[in-house]
Amino acid sequence: MLKRVDALLSQLGYCTRKDSRRFLRKNSLTIGDEEIRNPALKVKHADLKLNGEDLDPLKIVVLMNKPPRTICSHDDAGALIYGLLPQRWQYRNPKVSTVGRLDADTTGAIILTDDGALNHKLTSPRSNIPKVYEAVLAQELNGNEKEIFASGTLILKGEDKPCLPAVLEVIDDTKVRLEIVEGKYHQVKRMFAAVGNKVIKLHRVSFGEFDVKDLEEGEYKFINLD
Ligand code: URA
Repeated sequence: MLKRVDALLSQLGYCTRKDSRRFLRKNSLTIGDEEIRNPALKVKHADLKLNGEDLDPLKIVVLMNKPPRTICSHDDAGALIYGLLPQRWQYRNPKVSTVGRLDADTTGAIILTDDGALNHKLTSPRSNIPKVYEAVLAQELNGNEKEIFASGTLILKGEDKPCLPAVLEVIDDTKVRLEIVEGKYHQVKRMFAAVGNKVIKLHRVSFGEFDVKDLEEGEYKFINLD
């Protein structure tokens, strides 16, 4: 699709449309050997190089290993997860947002995208995407948690429908791996609260097929969900 240079640069967050002429003076935007100076020129994203590199993709879909003390929100005070992405992405239109949320103290796999339809699809209650968490608990397990979580009868405080069956793997008396297919608010913490325990550390190992084993905390990589 052909698009004006100024509209494309502003959509990708490199500069505002108004600033595009100045941006083009300070940077080298090229198609082949040809340097672009005219912000009104109609171009194809895939043909362009900026300072010799490909432009950021038209659609952002990344997997991040979320560090602790970061917030999955656009408008909270504090360390927002978006601060770990290139600054220009904050000016992209549409905005890059997390797919669902992890609590500030939860670490691990989170997808961020500016594709609203994809975000909606991945967070829909019908998506049934498995999410695997590792949790450290304040107290030793009772021994019946596996059965309760698998039963599909556990009702969380304030809810009227039970949680869908979940798979609990016991690592040791206070460490577990839990696979759930929903994304209710504080779900893992509330599931353990419902059986008289407390989660003191929570890490999401994977979201669907994507895990963060190869990512340091705060690192992210592009993924393909097409
Ligand atoms: N469940 C929780 O309780 N917290 C999270 O961050 C994710 C799932």
